[in-house]
Amino acid sequence: MERTLAILKPDCVGAKKSGKVLDRIEAAGFRVVGLRMVRLNAQTAGTFYEVHKERPFYQDLVEFMSGDRCIAVALEKDNAVADFRKLIGATDPAEAADGTIRKEFATSKQNNIVHGSDSVENAKIEISFFFSSRDLVETA
Ligand code: GDP
Repeated sequence: MERTLAILKPDCVGAKKSGKVLDRIEAAGFRVVGLRMVRLNAQTAGTFYEVHKERPFYQDLVEFMSGDRCIAVALEKDNAVADFRKLIGATDPAEAADGTIRKEFATSKQNNIVHGSDSVENAKIEISFFFSSRDLVETA
């Protein structure tokens, strides 16, 4: 079993779409092993997206991610990282495939509803950013 980190972003939580998006995630076969409502501050959001620090959209991204609550979700499934990226679709909803979560719910390249880890290695780092091991349910 592999794990990945999802974040329901402020545009998702603020627009009360969290239930619908979680439903899509569970229907696609992911098991929730950790779930936490968080309000990131600018520093924490900046650290999470530090890899994008030199990008022109970094400040806007930090403001967006710290502008309202997020829900961090640790997910488990065979091939979780790649399968979750496929489920959410391309970064820009205009380019996301039909049937993906971003295609259905996202409103812009920045306000794209959900984060998903991009590698197994980053998934481990990102899960530990939000959860300690005792916050995560062990696989039955
Ligand atoms: P992801 O892995 O699909 O989430 O995409 P990236 O890692 O490339 O970017 C991280 C996040 O930054 C995205 O999910 C968007 O919220 C935001 N983002 C990416 N590209 C842009 C952009 O060109 N403009 C703006 N405003 N935000 C962007």
